[in-house]
Amino acid sequence: DSKQFDVIVLGAGAAGLHCAATAARRGKRVLVLDHAKQAGKKILISGGGRCNFTNMFTSPENFISANPHFCKSALSRYTQWDFIAQVERHGIAYHEKTLGQLFCDDSAKDIVRMLLQECSDAGARVQLRTEIASVTVNDAKQYRVATNQGDYLADALVVATGGLSMPKLGATPFGFKLAEQFGHRVLPVRAGLVPFTLHDADKAQFEPLAGTACDVVAGNHLTSFKEAMLFTHRGLSGPSILQISSYWQPGEPVWLNLLPEIDALEALKQVKQQQPKSGLKAWLSSQLPKRLVSMLLQREQWPLKNMADYSHQELSDIAERLHAWPVKPNGTEGYRTAEVTLGGVDTNQVSSKTMQSNIQPGLYFIGEVLDVTGWLGGYNFQWAWSSAHVCGESV
Ligand code: FAD
Repeated sequence: DSKQFDVIVLGAGAAGLHCAATAARRGKRVLVLDHAKQAGKKILISGGGRCNFTNMFTSPENFISANPHFCKSALSRYTQWDFIAQVERHGIAYHEKTLGQLFCDDSAKDIVRMLLQECSDAGARVQLRTEIASVTVNDAKQYRVATNQGDYLADALVVATGGLSMPKLGATPFGFKLAEQFGHRVLPVRAGLVPFTLHDADKAQFEPLAGTACDVVAGNHLTSFKEAMLFTHRGLSGPSILQISSYWQPGEPVWLNLLPEIDALEALKQVKQQQPKSGLKAWLSSQLPKRLVSMLLQREQWPLKNMADYSHQELSDIAERLHAWPVKPNGTEGYRTAEVTLGGVDTNQVSSKTMQSNIQPGLYFIGEVLDVTGWLGGYNFQWAWSSAHVCGESV
């Protein structure tokens, strides 16, 4: 009957739609359920409306997980090139922006349209505005999904309800709760790829810099990222900050290399020799945005004198500071603006080949609900496509 399916996919986002089309192409009767009015809402606003749909350099090193090996199998069985080939089959124009990041030339709508087209061509049904009340397993070992539109039955259930970021777009903890209902461990979740907020004293000092951007290396004891940083009215943002935020724990400092392209000590020694009558401020202003220079001079209290009068030790201290300027964030902006959720369904209880639960037959987890989080740059969508594909091929 019309309520009986082989596969029910919960979540019509990136992973859910891609999985549904893949399974339906194998002849499976597939139903996708979502409470939203529109499919793929996050895709539509991603990448500033152009969707950074993958990264040409995707590899397992670009992902954060308590179990770093888990993502390898899916990423190698459905690669960025496989997804790019699909984008090209649909005639969607795209370009590389930077660092291997691929964006639509026109609009993220092209990607959602493609995913929905693939679903309808393969015969997968996508049903929106559907509130899920409960999921149970009946005597015939089938999943019964009770909703405000009626009950649906299937042999397999795919959880693709994503993470907690951007609750305004329909994000809910549904997937984590369902995982726990079936005995799965869910690792602690927190916001990732998210701007930092600052302590009051720093905030007051940084405030005049709002809107200033510069290229830095943002790092901590784990890793570092060389990309742009942006001062905002609320704190620090920009790609390098979003990247390091995923590796940051409350209370820890981050270090900013404000002059990543030069050896500051060598440069300072050279100025001292060649322009002994010039000052530190003039040199800093030739290297960094003026407002940043003013703030640094105020904050660091470096002695101001002719370059000739700085000792080697003084120059060395200044250079060291410029290459490793410490900032201690107060926190992050949280799920309201985070691009991703770190943590999630523990991958140790899930098959890396099929995404099926190791403890509950017929139950699958794909996409962001799993404890696999990509860097900024198209990696999170690639994880959605890869995990969805291997699931759709086996479900
Ligand atoms: P989602 O795409 O979030 O889909 C989950 C679906 O489940 C949603 O449709 C939701 O409505 C539905 N759902 C949730 N709870 C329920 C429930 N209780 N009942 C019914 N349905 C439910 N990644 C990139 O790689 N490149 C980018 O350019 C990029 N830009 C981003 C920009 C922003 C502002 C944000 C927030 C994220 C961005 N990301 C980007 C991350 C990327 O969007 C996600 O990692 C990806 O969408 C995860 O796919 P998913 O299918 O697992 O979850």
